[in-house]
Amino acid sequence: MAVPPHGEAREAVAARGAAPSGASAPAERRHSRLTVLSGPSGVGKSTVVAELRRQSPDIWISVSVTTRRPRPGEVNGREYYFVDDREFDRMLAAGELLEWNEFAGNKYGTPLEPVRRRIDEGLPTLLEIDLNGARQVREAMKGDALFVFLEPPSWEELVRRLTGRGTEPAEVVERRLSVAREELAAADEFDVLLVNTSVQDVCRQLVTLINSYR
Ligand code: 5GP
Repeated sequence: MAVPPHGEAREAVAARGAAPSGASAPAERRHSRLTVLSGPSGVGKSTVVAELRRQSPDIWISVSVTTRRPRPGEVNGREYYFVDDREFDRMLAAGELLEWNEFAGNKYGTPLEPVRRRIDEGLPTLLEIDLNGARQVREAMKGDALFVFLEPPSWEELVRRLTGRGTEPAEVVERRLSVAREELAAADEFDVLLVNTSVQDVCRQLVTLINSYR
């Protein structure tokens, strides 16, 4: 399950606080080029990632496996690999996942091998995962990654986005909101906080962060 850290052991980064528009990674970051983007469900992580994929094809974005059903417009192998429980459990048992979590009744996990390959090649690599997954990656990478937390402009805005999506039944939305409350409380575990006021701004800040450590 563990991805070995790149090069010699090193202090974890600590550059907390909202990133300014010209955000840059802390100067001492020079090893793996792994960035972990996390934040509550509904905050807009996947929209940011879709925009990043369009704008910066040089940044490799990990495709997770999930047991959730595809939403309209989602393509197998692009947003996720959609698998059944049996296949997910097989991958987990075979040690093929870097991290995983059960979220609102479905399982999600990051296939280890493609991530390891990109890290070994020194390529910029992004994971978009939940808080629990981010904690597992921090453990596995011994802090050798940049952890970015995406916050909503306000709680009301997050509720609006989650209820307005209209793709999930009410009880699933309720579950997501209750997890979101816990996730927001963990924001200060991250190296950088970005507020999702605009997809374009967040994307620009992310690209700056990712490209500032080579
Ligand atoms: P959604 O169902 O809205 O696509 O995703 C639900 C949550 O699962 C989001 O917070 C998303 O970031 C998270 N997620 C997506 N892929 C992974 C993964 O591979 N691992 C973990 N731990 N969380 C994931």
